[in-house]
Amino acid sequence: MTTTEKNKANILTDRFGRIHDYLRISLTDNCNFRCSYCMPDLDHEFTPHEKLMTAGEIRAIAEEFVRLGVNKIRLTGGEPLIRKDFPEILSLLAPLNAELLISTNGFLLDRHLPDLLKAGIRTVNISLDSLRPEVFFKVTGQDKFERVWKNIHLMLDHGLRVKINVVAIKGIIEEEVLDFIDLTRDLPLHVRFIEFMPFTGNHWAGDQVVTASQLLEIAMERYDVVKLLDEPHATARKYMAIGHKGSFAFITTMSNQFCHECNRLRITAEGKLKNCLFGKDEIPLLELLRSGRDLHASIQESLQLKHKELGGQFDRDFKKVNPDAIANRSMISIGG
Ligand code: SAM
Ligand code: SF4
Ligand code: SF4
Repeated sequence: MTTTEKNKANILTDRFGRIHDYLRISLTDNCNFRCSYCMPDLDHEFTPHEKLMTAGEIRAIAEEFVRLGVNKIRLTGGEPLIRKDFPEILSLLAPLNAELLISTNGFLLDRHLPDLLKAGIRTVNISLDSLRPEVFFKVTGQDKFERVWKNIHLMLDHGLRVKINVVAIKGIIEEEVLDFIDLTRDLPLHVRFIEFMPFTGNHWAGDQVVTASQLLEIAMERYDVVKLLDEPHATARKYMAIGHKGSFAFITTMSNQFCHECNRLRITAEGKLKNCLFGKDEIPLLELLRSGRDLHASIQESLQLKHKELGGQFDRDFKKVNPDAIANRSMISIGG
């Protein structure tokens, strides 16, 4: 790396010396699923079309971040694949000098497979909270397990790396954790169990959190488990059952935070920059872009506001967290 390249890579540094090179862009706050832990049941008002970033605006904002050192961009939502102009967005972002990734509920993946391959996407994160169609229906509000399952296989058949995101829902996960790990025996899947997190309107309570250590204990009763090396800045702590083709991991946002190595920034579907998943500070990047203003200074301002951990909003001990005291958005309007 040349000195200029190194300086560029360090531009997005916050007060705690954390370099930010990973951007998550939400394409919409709408979704074809209705997962209870994500979408508040109070009448969720979707952002009107004209307030969403257009494909060209997404490209312009992403380009600025890449210029400032971002080398990884994840498209998320809501459900990113429901955007009619998803192929156009992909084709505008693909030429940027950053790895492009996607998080999806998987339902529309078959329709977009050619676009994904053309854009050079190699890894797909797919949400799947249950392997039982009737439970899947209860969690997502949609009777669509079979198609998501078929699409997971379709991705594997086309050589894509597939990560399965499973929210650890109390009363479900204890029954299914072993079934999920069982999947990794013959399939090269990477299953990630995510601890249940508090967001506006999602009825979070500390006693509903099933922790990584509780799940690991269940796993170790059946399998010989080894710890794998975690990539730098990875939010997931990786494991493997000996002899399996795939792996499993835990995202321990509630029980063992990883904020000290945070490298991520987020943009909501209406173009607000959030410096933390749980932060309340938001910078209206899209408004600035539309009024012809320079984005760099505002991005820096947002970074300087970033708190050391958890958006400065709650205690590391999740049992002490009062969800009503957290000023944030619903998960569906943040973008995961
Ligand atoms: N619709 C896509 C999907 O479901 O993958 C992308 C957006 S979704 C908001 C991104 C991720 O956030 C999903 O894996 C979802 O399961 C996870 N998620 C949503 N609400 C959550 C919560 N309260 N706690 C933990 N994970 C959550
Ligand atoms: Fe939709 Fe994903 Fe949220 Fe479920 S988790 S409601 S699929 S955005
Ligand atoms: Fe980063 Fe905020 Fe998540 Fe911590 S809680 S890892 S600071 S985004």
